[in-house]
Amino acid sequence: MFELRKLNYSYDALEPHLDAKTMEIHYSKHHQAYLDNFNKVLENYPEIQGKSAEDILRELNNLKVSDSDRSKIRNHGGGYLNHNIFWASMSPEKQIDAELVKEIEEIFVSLESFKELFGNIAKTHFGAGWAWLVRNTEGKLEVYSLPNQDSPYTLGHEPILNLDIWEHAYYLKYKNKRADFVDAWWNVVTVI
Ligand code: MN
Repeated sequence: MFELRKLNYSYDALEPHLDAKTMEIHYSKHHQAYLDNFNKVLENYPEIQGKSAEDILRELNNLKVSDSDRSKIRNHGGGYLNHNIFWASMSPEKQIDAELVKEIEEIFVSLESFKELFGNIAKTHFGAGWAWLVRNTEGKLEVYSLPNQDSPYTLGHEPILNLDIWEHAYYLKYKNKRADFVDAWWNVVTVI
């Protein structure tokens, strides 16, 4: 059974950029629901239960499961794993990853132009989904958005950073202003 990982900070630690109420509902209700549904579908597949969530999403298209359960694993397993990455990528105090910043500057010219590119993808993605910084199959940094709870692992990519752009991630505080949420989020990203 997969478990809800403890947050390394309190619900109000990312204020004022991410408000405590949103963090509480997001973590204790939304994330919990993805986890519960993920565990529920895996009850039918003891042979999958021993794998890591990362491997399950990597192997999604080859898992010996029904089509309906494959969709559930994609949505709820993806939801579980995507949020693990999201919580871990934020903190009240920055711990800049100098190597990553250097690589970003090499690929995207500057940190500012990377933020603008990533931010625009997050701001313009239609509907629910996530913005991603990943390492692609060629080992190169790449940014894109994916719909719903789709995982870069299923594409063979390694996630580095993600931003939740489902309305539940920001609507209480930012209402329809997703762009303001995206701009504020950079303040709580740990490694950049
Ligand atoms: Mn979410």
